[in-house]
Amino acid sequence: MIRKTRIGQYLSFSSLVSLLLSLGILTIIWVSGLGVTAKESEGVLPPLQIHPLPSTLKNWHDPQNAGDYFSYLEESPVGSLIWSEFPIKIYWDQPANLVDNSASHQRFQQWVTEVEKAIAEWNSYLPLVEVKQEELGDIIIKRDNPPLGTTINPETGKLEIPRARSAQTSYKFYFKGDNPPVLSHQMIVLISPNLSQELILSAIRHELGHALGIWGHSPVETDALYFSQVRNPPPISVRDINTLKKVYQQPTRLGWTISQRSH
Ligand SMILES: [Zn+2]
Repeated sequence: MIRKTRIGQYLSFSSLVSLLLSLGILTIIWVSGLGVTAKESEGVLPPLQIHPLPSTLKNWHDPQNAGDYFSYLEESPVGSLIWSEFPIKIYWDQPANLVDNSASHQRFQQWVTEVEKAIAEWNSYLPLVEVKQEELGDIIIKRDNPPLGTTINPETGKLEIPRARSAQTSYKFYFKGDNPPVLSHQMIVLISPNLSQELILSAIRHELGHALGIWGHSPVETDALYFSQVRNPPPISVRDINTLKKVYQQPTRLGWTISQRSH
């Protein structure tokens, strides 16, 4: 369903989005629905449309019929959280000083090695390219502790501070360009510097799955996107890629302009 829009509508919405993004609170505003829900915004956001499958996923066939966990994924206000411009630009933190022999530097260097391994694994399924400037990244991997995210318990009315998380992925929306503007997103992955060495690879592999579009978790322990940490973390599974392929076949508002029409 497509509604006609007046130009003034998306321009003002676009500047509102840029303002919120510069304040870093777009995600919060968006999900808490301060008057902007996907349905109400139908007129000011691009219509839901399907992008062509990237060739890496088009060529993916599962000979085992292992199935997927697509039905367990969460819905987003813009449809599927997928990338449509390839290669996907990815930035990750790296130590500034390369000639440092301290233990903390070595730990950082090991972290980088694990990040690069996880990126190489996913690169077989979706093309990724490194960018050295953080602001140019579609996906940004930071060696930082995720926020504790205090919540209010609805039953007791008391503040609750959950257990420290070791990794977290969140997204932001913005409009790219202005001729006309394209609804775009950025994924921010935080990996704790305190995470034990043997867990870094599986944590990044898991979070990258989210950043590439698998927004939710598998109920099966042998999938990389299983909801909990396991003793022997599995590699990316056939079911992970079956799910990823299905995600990329869904409609989205991302990567489309407001003036674009489906045919
Ligand atoms: Zn997760």
